[in-house]
Amino acid sequence: MPRVHNFNAGPAALPLPALERAQRELLDHDGTGMSIIEHSHRGKAFEAVHNEAISLLRQLLDVPDDYHVLFQYGGASHQFAVVPLNLLHAGRSADYIITGGWSEKAYQEAERIGTVRVAGTTEVDKRYTRIPRQEELTLDPNAAYVHMTTNNTLFGTQWHWLPETGDVPLVADMSSDFLWRRIDVRRFGLIYAGAQKNIGPSGLTVVLARKDLVDGGRKDIPTIFRYATHATNNSLYNTPPTFAIYLVRNVLAYTVETGGLDEVERRNRRKAELLYGTIDERPDFFRAPVEAASRSFMNVVFRLPSEELEKRFIAEAAREGMVGLAGHRSTGGIRVSLYNAVEVASVEFLVSFMRAFASRG
Ligand SMILES: *Cc1c(COP(=O)(O)O)cnc(C)c1O
Repeated sequence: MPRVHNFNAGPAALPLPALERAQRELLDHDGTGMSIIEHSHRGKAFEAVHNEAISLLRQLLDVPDDYHVLFQYGGASHQFAVVPLNLLHAGRSADYIITGGWSEKAYQEAERIGTVRVAGTTEVDKRYTRIPRQEELTLDPNAAYVHMTTNNTLFGTQWHWLPETGDVPLVADMSSDFLWRRIDVRRFGLIYAGAQKNIGPSGLTVVLARKDLVDGGRKDIPTIFRYATHATNNSLYNTPPTFAIYLVRNVLAYTVETGGLDEVERRNRRKAELLYGTIDERPDFFRAPVEAASRSFMNVVFRLPSEELEKRFIAEAAREGMVGLAGHRSTGGIRVSLYNAVEVASVEFLVSFMRAFASRG
């Protein structure tokens, strides 16, 4: 079976050379006679991989020295609880900007832990088709933090600007657009991103956090939930998901070798331009529900004239080796995820299929 064109929403495509490296190194990691999975997380071999992954992240994103780079287990959903557990002190309140299903979930978890406010939402009839404007936000200048979701995996919207929050730290769930291009880490107090969209396997989450927020985090919570615990122990307080960290290392090393994030961004822009261009060519056939200024570079959603045609589209595409095109179970339609590892050639193949499908009607 040849490799498919993988448009999965997550877990999702990974760069083939990063997987091939894992295959080559699997039985004998670096001349040690065992796989990295079998190594102690306290040994030199794993420690080297772990520290390389952290320093590659620092290098790719220019992470300032006053930020920790942490590895957490349990996915981004785990952070929905861990963020307020650490940062939402008694007597304080946190602001949440709701732009999709994941930010709703983050808000609901925080609500169980402390006082939270909705500082803005673009929900209309359970759907989200755009990002709010600054004037639509009602931000509390005394909030402990403002939480946002930079890319909305389900609804295909993405922030192309950042809300102005004054001295209030901005906390971002970047799971589905982490490393899609460079960002200014300083604009954020804390960033978290599940690995399985853009940088590796599921079950591992990267956290970039300003050191003063980590140091000032709540101490009356279980040790394992404290960011400070993981920061003090270089994310080796307990056994981390070693194989996931190893694979992230492979993906990041490959990203650096092939031109870094400027090259990643160039390819991502090219892919989105190809796909949105094709959708816009045939507004009579392809319907894009998302406001143009809020379109996501990572998850492109669109509808066909009927659900019947959508089913046929997905089935015919699968026969041609294109998978992962069904919309989220809550929204229906078509969703094409264009994460970093999706090749421009795969998108070229998809858009020529789309043109042919639309002309057949
Ligand atoms: C996928 C995703 C999540 C959930 O990740 P899990 O690893 O399943 O917990 C959270 N937020 C966003 C934006 C996502 O895309």
